[in-house]
Parts: sequence; C-alpha cells; structure tokens
Amino acid sequence: MAKASISSPTRKHLDSPVFDELGMERDPDNLYLQTIDAVLHAAEVLKLPHHVQIIMAQPKNEIMVHFPVEMDDGHHRLFKGYRVQHNNALGPYKGGLRFHPHVSLDDVKSLAVLMTMKCSLVRIPYGGGKGGVKCDPRSLTTNELRRVVRRFVAAIAPQIGPDYDIPAPDVGSNAQMMAWFADTYAGITNGTRDAMAVVTGKPIAVGGSVGREKATGQGVIDVLAELLPELNIQMKGGTCSVLGYGNVGSWSAKLWAERGGKVLAAMDHTGGVINKNGLDTSALDEHVKATGGVANFKGGDKCTADEFYKTKVDVFIPAALEQMINPERAKQLDCKVVAEAANAPTTPAGERILMEKGVEIMPAILCSAGGVTVSYFEWVQNKTHTIWDLEKVDDELNRHMVMAARRTQMMRQKYGVDMRTAAYMAALENIGEAYALRGIFP
Ligand code: GLU
Repeated sequence: MAKASISSPTRKHLDSPVFDELGMERDPDNLYLQTIDAVLHAAEVLKLPHHVQIIMAQPKNEIMVHFPVEMDDGHHRLFKGYRVQHNNALGPYKGGLRFHPHVSLDDVKSLAVLMTMKCSLVRIPYGGGKGGVKCDPRSLTTNELRRVVRRFVAAIAPQIGPDYDIPAPDVGSNAQMMAWFADTYAGITNGTRDAMAVVTGKPIAVGGSVGREKATGQGVIDVLAELLPELNIQMKGGTCSVLGYGNVGSWSAKLWAERGGKVLAAMDHTGGVINKNGLDTSALDEHVKATGGVANFKGGDKCTADEFYKTKVDVFIPAALEQMINPERAKQLDCKVVAEAANAPTTPAGERILMEKGVEIMPAILCSAGGVTVSYFEWVQNKTHTIWDLEKVDDELNRHMVMAARRTQMMRQKYGVDMRTAAYMAALENIGEAYALRGIFP
C-alpha cells in the first residue's frame, strides 16, 4: 500500500474556481464546503468535465418543510424537516433520515453528497439524498415520535417514492420509525405493499432484510479485513477503540471482537470506559440499550475524553457524529488507522495532522457504505417479492465492500493520491461516465 499523506497535507483547501463561479463562500468550518472541496479536488485530479463539477457542487433539490404535531399534553409544536436530493444520475435518490436537535440544511446537504459518492463507490444503482427532522427524539414519547414521523411523511410524500427517492435510518432513527414511515406512505398513496419499498431499514416483519441492522458495522469490518493485512495489522489480536456506541459503533465493536480482536476503549455522549484486557462488547451493548450510554459500565474503568483519545490502539473507529476529530483530537490519537464508520468524522485540519503523523485514514464513503448496500438488497427483495437468507446478504455485502476497497486502492496507486481522494475519484469516475453517455436533457 502506498504511504499515506501523498497529496492532501500540502494541497490548498477551498481553492476550486467552482466556489467563485457558484458564489459559494469559503468558510473553512462549514461541513458542506469541506465536503464539496474534497469532492472537487478529486474531480480535478480526475479531470472531470466542468459541467459535471458544477452539477456535483450543489444538490438538485433542497426541500424544507414545517409541520405541526400534537403533543401528548394537547398543545401543538411546529417541527422543521429536510430532504435534500443531491444527485440521481445513477438511480433514485437514496439516504437516511436524521432525527437530531442539530440537524441543519448545510449538514444535510453535506450528508446527501456523501450518499451520492457512497452509492457510486460500491456500485449500487442509486444517487444520493439525505433528510431529517430537527428534534431530540429522546425527549419525545413513543406516541409523539410516531406522530412526528407520520406528519413528516405527509409533508414530503409528493417529493419521494419507491422509484424516485428512498429514505432509511440514520442517527436518531430506527427500524420502528421506518415501519411507521412505510405504513404512512402506503396509506396516503396507493395503499399497496409495493409502496412500502419507499423506505429501507424496516423491521423484517414489514419487508425489512435480514442483516440490515448490523450492515454498516459489518461493512467496516469487511473493509478492514481487506486492507489491514497490507499494513501488517492483524485483526486477530489487534486492538481498537470505538467512538459512539449506537448501531454502527456497537456492531463494529462486536464484529471486531468476534474476529479475535480486542476493543480497548469506548466513548459516547455519556462518558468513556476502558479495559486494557478488552471490553466485553456484547455486555456493553446490553448496558447501553438498558441505560442509554456507556457511562457506568462495570466491565471496565471510567475514562475521560482525553484518556479515551490517547489510548494506544491499532485502529480507531469513529462511529458518532461529524467533525469530531478536530486538530486537538487528531494530536491526541495514538493509532495506525482511522476507519471512518461515521459520516465525515474528521475535519480537514484534523486530517492534515493525522496524515503528518502517518496515520492511514480509511474514508467514510468506503467504510460506512455497508448500511446503504444492504438497504439496496432490501429494496431489491421488496421489488422482486423475494426473501434472501443471511448468508446471501453477508456474501453479497462482502463482495461489494471488497470491490469498493480494491477500486479505491487502484485509484490511489494510479494517481498517487491519499485514500479519501482516491475513494471520491473511484465514485466520480462512474458518475462522470454516466453523464458522458446520458448527456443533459432537455
Ligand atoms: N444512513 C445510512 C448512511 O449514512 C444508510 C442510508 C441508507 O441505507 O439509505 O449510509
């Protein structure tokens, strides 16, 4: 494998002429601009035509809705929802729905771009989209949350569809919410079971797929299994730490441990826990489900955020929110590899420091693509009225992840770029070819 830090540490950021042409500000802290900057850099190395670059630089549609919901005490609250449809050159828009107090348009736009890139990199026939509702789902009762989901679907139903835009779970949303989503959409459209394919990540009883729940974590492990041997790191006996212990973090940790590795530390919004002999990842998962976080887990010692980041490990797995690995955290990290299980967890300034330290960064569009890949399998099963078994889902997922990792490596070797740029290039190559063949209509 080529050494890290080939191009990014030295390159100028936010310098594409497209920023001026489209009147986009050069705010280095804005997640959307950070994301587009990295995509445009890859597009330039690939010499993608100008028109494809400007198409990629902005989403096709940015939908914002406000809708009232009756709370349990009888009063009404107004909620704000988003659906950003970035690109559909390769297929229907695809991407999750985030329920979080900090959901904002720029963040959703950035996550939508990442979905376009992710789907193209793993070669599933989808474009990219993302949505969300600005709220704290933890502070809502189950009945209130159900009404929020149903009202949100009613607000965006004309803009989505099983062949046009297919949402899924993301931070703060789960399979139950996708069941309410599908039921509401089917109810207000044609009422048939086929309408349920409008959303993925559903419970198995209402058209979900086996293997979808663990899919993102499984994809992280599939990529690591493919790429770590080239770095002389063995998963068996290898060490990792995990930031965020929700669906993605807990499954990555459990599957890492299943392959004979040790999970030395875990941290989330409630606190950190460390165990030099390795955490019992299943017991920690049960603790998090029962108490809402890793804090007070008895199977290890409490640790501070500083201690967590400084823990020496082979692989650091950020599986929480965006922009968490800033320069301060990057300096603290003592790892050989960062496997980005979350979307955009590393800031460009944090990335520069990691690269200077020689840390290998396996980018989010590669590492975190397992979820949407199995979403695609769920959608195929819905569309063809078939049911796959777990072996088939796992095998197909592994095949997609391994091919995506190899595609990224080939780009890296051919152009001598860092791994993030290489992954974007492998994604953009596919999209560029689609535009070259399809042209722009009308
Ligand atoms: N929210 C997940 C992601 O960011 C899954 C999206 C999907 O399954 O469509 O990749």
